Amino acid sequence: MKVSRAVASFVLATAACLAAPQAAAADAPHAPSKKSSSSSSLFPVDTLVAAAHVLTMDGTDRVFSPGAVAIKGGRIVAVGTPSGLAALYSPKQKILRPNAVVLPGLVNTHTHAAMNLLRGIADDLPLMDWLTKYIFPAEGKNVSPGFVKAGTLLACAEMVRGGTTTFADMYYFESDVASAVDQCGMRAVLGETWLDFPVPDHKDLAESITMTRAFLEKWKGHPRVIAAVAPHAPFTNSKESLLAARDLALEFKAPLLIHVSETKDEQKQITEKYGTTPAKWLESIGFLGPNVLAAHGVWLDADDMRLLAERRVGLAHNPESNMKLASGIAPIVAARKAGIAVGLGTDGVAGSNNDLDMWEAMDFAGKLAKVSTMDPTALPAKDLLRMATIEGARAMKLDDRIGSLEAGKRADLVAVDLGKARTHPVWDLYSTLVYAAKESDVTLTMVEGRVLWNGTRVTTLDEAKVIRDAEDWRKKIAASLAAPAAPK
Ligand SMILES: [Zn+2]
Repeated sequence: MKVSRAVASFVLATAACLAAPQAAAADAPHAPSKKSSSSSSLFPVDTLVAAAHVLTMDGTDRVFSPGAVAIKGGRIVAVGTPSGLAALYSPKQKILRPNAVVLPGLVNTHTHAAMNLLRGIADDLPLMDWLTKYIFPAEGKNVSPGFVKAGTLLACAEMVRGGTTTFADMYYFESDVASAVDQCGMRAVLGETWLDFPVPDHKDLAESITMTRAFLEKWKGHPRVIAAVAPHAPFTNSKESLLAARDLALEFKAPLLIHVSETKDEQKQITEKYGTTPAKWLESIGFLGPNVLAAHGVWLDADDMRLLAERRVGLAHNPESNMKLASGIAPIVAARKAGIAVGLGTDGVAGSNNDLDMWEAMDFAGKLAKVSTMDPTALPAKDLLRMATIEGARAMKLDDRIGSLEAGKRADLVAVDLGKARTHPVWDLYSTLVYAAKESDVTLTMVEGRVLWNGTRVTTLDEAKVIRDAEDWRKKIAASLAAPAAPK
C-alpha cells in the first residue's frame, strides 16, 4: 500500500511524541494531573491506539484528528490527541492506524448466532414454509451443544472481522453460546429462548425455568457475558411463561429479550386472541420494563411507541431481515421521536439476512427510512452510526460501559481504513463510514482492551478450523435432512 506523505508524517510525529513525550497536555481531555514532564512521571498504560481520527460518539460528538485512546486494564483512561496523550502516558504497546478512523465497537442488538451453520439452507420462501420445511426439521435433528458452539464461533469470527464487539442473542444452549463468546473474547447479552413447545434443550416450562436459572447462576459476574431470559414472542409464549421469564429476569437483574410485532400475522393473532396489540398485551400483564429489549417492532402503532418509551424498553431494528422476509418497514423515525432507544440488528443469517454485517444494517436502515417516509433527511448518517453504537448500547442498557469512547468506559473499539478508493475522499466521516465503508475495511477490533482482529487474523480463534467445523456440520445437517424421519 502506498503511504502518502501526510500519513508518513503522522507516523513519524506519533512515534516521536510517544517515544519522547515533552509537550504540555492541555489538549488531552480526561487526563490526570501531571506535575512533571520527565518520563518517570508518565502514567503507565497497557495500550495507546493512535489514528488519523478518533470519533468518540460521546455526548458532544467529539472528534480528534489525529486522535488517540489510552487504555489500561481493559478500560479507557483517556481520549485526546496523540501528542497530548503521549505527554501523559507511557504505553506498553502502541497500535498505530495512520490511515484509519477509530470509533466505538459496533453493537448488534439482535442475532441468533448459532444459526450461522444454517446460512443459505433455504431462501426466498414464505415464512411458514421456510420454518416448517427447513428450519424446524434441521434444528430438531441437529441442535446440540456442539452445533451451538460451532455456529457461534463461526458467527464470532464473522462479527469481529466486521467490527462488531457486542451482540444480543436469542437461541438454545445459551451456556454453550457463552463459552464460544468467552473463547472469542467478544461481549454479549445471551438470552436462553423459551417457547410453549419442546425445544432442543428443554421440553416444558418447568425445565425452561430450571435450566435458565442454572445458566444465569453460572455466568453471573462475568465481565463480558451477560446471561438473559428470552421468551420468544407474545404469540408463541403463554401469559404464564412470559411472567415466569419476567420474574426470573427480575430475580437475577437480567435482561429480557423478546420478538415483538414482527409480522402482520402476529399482529392479527394477538388481536384475535387478546383484542389488542402485542405491546399493549405485554403491558397489560406487567411484562414491560427497562430490562426488556424488543426485536423488530415493525407493526407498532403510536400508542405502542409511547408505551415502550414510557417503560424504557429498548428496540432492535433489523432492516434487512424485515425486507428479506417481507415483514414490513418498522416506523423507526417515529419510534426514535417517541423517545425509544433504537439499536440496529442483523437477525439470524439462516434465511433472514444472510450475514451479520452491521455496515449494511446502517446503510439499509437509512435508505429504508428515507424511502418509506419519502424524506431524504430522515435518519442522517450520524444518527445511523449512533444507532449502531451508543444508542444500541442504550437500548441494551449497557451505555454506562460501552457505545462511546470516553474515559472510564470499556475499551471496545474498532478502526476503519480510510485509505481505499471507495473511502476516498473524506468530506464527512459519518457519511464515509455509513454510506461507503464496508466491513472489509475494518482493520482493528478490540474488546475490553484486547485485540480480537488485527486486520490480518482473528487473534483468539483458529479461523481455518472454525470454517472446517462449519463445513462438517453442513454435511451432517444435509445428511440428517435426507434421512427418513425417526419413528415416533
Ligand atoms: Zn430474531
